[in-house]
Amino acid sequence: MTNKPQLKEGWNFENSYLHLANKLYTKQNPTPVKNPKLIILNNLLAEDLGLNPKELESKEGIGVFAGNRIPTAAEPIAQAYAGHQFGHFTMLGDGRAILLGEHISPHKDRYDIQLKGSGKTTYSRGGDGRASLGPMLREYIISEAMYGLGIPTTRSLAVVTTGEPVYRETVLPGAILTRVAASHIRVGTFQYIKHYGKKEELKQLTDYTILRHFPDYISDDNRYSLFLKEVIKHQAELIAKWQLVGFIHGVMNTDNMTISGETIDYGPCAFMDTYDPDTVFSSIDVNGRYAYKNQPYIGAWNLARFAETLIPLLDPDQDEAVEIANEAVSEFGKIYYKNYLNGMRAKLGLFHEEAEDESIISELLNIMKENKADYTNTFRFLSLDNMKGMEFFNTDGFKQWHKKWEDRKNKERKSSAESLELMRKNNPAVIPRNHRVEETIDAAVNREDFCLMDKLLKALSNPYAYSPEQEEYTKLPPPSPIPYRTFCGT
Ligand code: AMP
Ligand code: MG
Repeated sequence: MTNKPQLKEGWNFENSYLHLANKLYTKQNPTPVKNPKLIILNNLLAEDLGLNPKELESKEGIGVFAGNRIPTAAEPIAQAYAGHQFGHFTMLGDGRAILLGEHISPHKDRYDIQLKGSGKTTYSRGGDGRASLGPMLREYIISEAMYGLGIPTTRSLAVVTTGEPVYRETVLPGAILTRVAASHIRVGTFQYIKHYGKKEELKQLTDYTILRHFPDYISDDNRYSLFLKEVIKHQAELIAKWQLVGFIHGVMNTDNMTISGETIDYGPCAFMDTYDPDTVFSSIDVNGRYAYKNQPYIGAWNLARFAETLIPLLDPDQDEAVEIANEAVSEFGKIYYKNYLNGMRAKLGLFHEEAEDESIISELLNIMKENKADYTNTFRFLSLDNMKGMEFFNTDGFKQWHKKWEDRKNKERKSSAESLELMRKNNPAVIPRNHRVEETIDAAVNREDFCLMDKLLKALSNPYAYSPEQEEYTKLPPPSPIPYRTFCGT
C-alpha cells in the first residue's frame, strides 16, 4: 500500500524491505543529535524525487536529515549484511547508517533513503555510529561527480552537521549524509542470508530483489539464472565505466558492491591524475588489492562470491547449479572487455571496430605510462585536437602513434568534426581532482566557506561541457614527492 505524500516536504514512504525475513534487519531509530544545521541540499535531486526543497530546508525538514524527526510512515531499520573485506569473510551490517524507508517518487520509482552517520546500531561493532563532515562532503562531491559523468551511482540529497563532535585522530564536526539509492541490497546481503538464513529466506530475498530491480523476469522459470546474468552484466558495464574515466573505488569489498549496479560507498576512492595502472590511493590497501588495474578482476571475484550464494536456487542438481554459476561468471570478462573497448574507441573518436583497435589503444596507454601523462588531460587535448597541449605529444613515440591513429580514423565514414564530437562526449574535461576536492572540503570544514563547493559542483555537473569556467579545474596539482593517500570515510 502506498501512503499518501507525507507532510509538506513530500516524503512518500513505503517499506517493502520490512516484509522480508526479520534477520535481514533490526528496527532502529536514528539517535537524535543536539544542534542540526543544513550544510548542503541537492535541490535538483530533491525536485526529481518529488520533494519540496523549501520545506526540506525548514527546521522540520532538517530534523529528518538529522534523524531527530521520523516522517510518518517511515519505519527506520539498520540492514544486516556480510561481506568479504580484503578477501576475508565477515559479518557486518549498517554500523552507522539507518534506512529511513523507501520513498516513492511521482514517477513511481522506488528509492532507499538512508542516513549515514546517524548513530550506533546493533551492527556497530565498537564504532561510534557517527561520521565527520569532511568525508560526508567528500561522498557528496564524488557521488554527484559520478552522476554528472553518467556513471550509475547512489546520490547525495543532503549533508547536515550534528552540532556534536566526533573523535578520530582529532576532534571533528559530526555530520550526516542523506544517501539515495535504487536499493542498498549488496552482494554482502546475499552472502549474509546464504550463510545465516534458510533456503526459503534466500529465495524470498532473491525474488524480492528480482521484483525490485529486474521485474521483467519475476514470472520466468529461469529467473534466478537470468538475475545472476543481469547483475553480472550491470557490474561489468559499471566497472568498464570506472576504468574509462580513471576512477578507483578503493574498497571493492563484497559489501560495497550493489545488486542494482550503482557505485556505492565513497570512502577512500579517488580519480587518478597520472596514468599508472598500479595506482592505489587507499592508505589501508597495502597490497594494492584494489589498484586501478585490478578492479575488473576483483569485480569478477566478487561476482563469483555472489553466484555461490545463488547455487541453491539455480538448479536442484548441485553440479548443474555450479555449472550455471560458472558459466555466468565467465561472461563477466567478456562483457567488461567489450564495454571497455567500445568506450575506448569512443574516447578516440572511432565509431566502428577494426582489428588494429586494441593495439592502438594499448600503445597509447603505454606511451602515456612511460611519459607519466595525466589521464584525463591526454584525452581532453586529443578531443580538442590540440596537439600542443601535452609535453609528451612532442615525443617520437607519440608522433608515430598519432600517425597510426590518423590512418585508423581515415577508415571511418565520418568527418573529423563528428569524430571530435564523439570524443568530447566521452572524454570529460573535468573530474573531481584530488587537490580540488581537498581544498573544497578544507574551506567548508575549517572556514565554513561553501563558495568553492558550489563552484566545484557546478563544474562537475556537466563534465563534458568543455566550458571556459571549467578550465581552472583541468589544472594539475603542484608536484608532490608524497603520493596522494585517501582514508576510509570515517
Ligand atoms: P565501509 O568501509 O564504509 O564500507 O564500512 C564497513 C563497515 O563498517 C560497515 O558495516 C559500516 O557500517 C561500519 N562502520 C564504518 N564506520 C563506522 C562507525 N564510525 N561506527 C560504526 N560502524 C562503522
Ligand atoms: Mg560499506
